[in-house]
Amino acid sequence: MCSGTTGHTFLGVKHQPMPASFQRELETALTAVRQAAIVCRSVQSAITTESLAKKDKSPVTVADFASQAIICRRLQHDFPNDPVIGEEGAAELRLPAGGDFLARVVRECTAVGVVASGVEVCDWIDRGETSEYSPRFWTLDPIDGTKGFLRKEQYAISLALIINGEIEVGVLGCPNMPFANKPDGTGVLAWAVRGQGAWMQPLSEPDASPTRIMVTQVSKTTEMRFCESVESGHSSHDWSGLIASELGIQLEPIRMDSQCKYLAVARGDADLYLRLPTRKGYQEKIWDHAGGILVVLEAGGEVTDINGLAPDFRHGSSLTCNEGMVVTNGRGHNTVVTAVKTHAPPEMT
Ligand code: AMP
Ligand code: MG
Repeated sequence: MCSGTTGHTFLGVKHQPMPASFQRELETALTAVRQAAIVCRSVQSAITTESLAKKDKSPVTVADFASQAIICRRLQHDFPNDPVIGEEGAAELRLPAGGDFLARVVRECTAVGVVASGVEVCDWIDRGETSEYSPRFWTLDPIDGTKGFLRKEQYAISLALIINGEIEVGVLGCPNMPFANKPDGTGVLAWAVRGQGAWMQPLSEPDASPTRIMVTQVSKTTEMRFCESVESGHSSHDWSGLIASELGIQLEPIRMDSQCKYLAVARGDADLYLRLPTRKGYQEKIWDHAGGILVVLEAGGEVTDINGLAPDFRHGSSLTCNEGMVVTNGRGHNTVVTAVKTHAPPEMT
């Protein structure tokens, strides 16, 4: 059942008692995402223009499975009782026809020091196959933004811990996001624990001092920059164009794959992120949002769906009570939601 909580009060830090520290969970999540990112980078670097021309999607699939195996292995070791709602399952890898493919996944795991049999790898992947809600669980997108991954553009590894419907820990590994004045390709690891702010660090520098990240202070919508999906099939560009006109937005949108858009708002590269359904009835997946949402909230931003409702993580793998998503720097959130509603295409109302 949908309770329809509005705004950030449900997820926000202001109305909740002091949360637990979750340091052990955070350490596990950071270590797991860093290790998965090494695999993703290595597989992505081997993508050639030839394989792209052939529309060969196998690199992203190999990296997807290896990333999920590595992260679920670590979660199983450190928190054996925690279920994981992840994007992938190993059913096709267990079939005889999946043998060669599984061997590739095993090779990628071995390359980062995770030496295991095919059966072990499948078992780890299947730990992430849960889809039912429980009072404490992790949610994982082993590669969010697969199209960006294949284009050698942006993608993210997203992991979050949800307790009683609240996101307590959120981690985003963004291997291709720039980091301040570091060389291209440094990548960003961003994270948040509820009540403890949002932070980032160069992805491959675990000993670097974390930098606190904050949303922008821009309050005039005319000065705002928004980001949205590259894929018009994932978020309506026509609709966002109408909203931009209404709000007097001058700057061109930043189009980017994956939850890197949440990072972009959290650290002030953009002021807004709009995710506008392209058809009635599409249910957003929790792993496409949980990690990113906490990073934005803890950076001072605000997140609701297009109806102004708080994302509700108590319904298993989908956000069944929500539609789309509106992410802002917290200034004028309601103005943006109103503009979204005003320009909703007839089929969405
Ligand atoms: P993005 O990189 O922002 O385009 O989002 C990638 C995510 O979009 C994928 O992980 C999918 O789960 C999700 N997705 C797939 N189809 C749709 C759709 N029709 N509407 C919204 N999101 C979708
Ligand atoms: Mg995804």
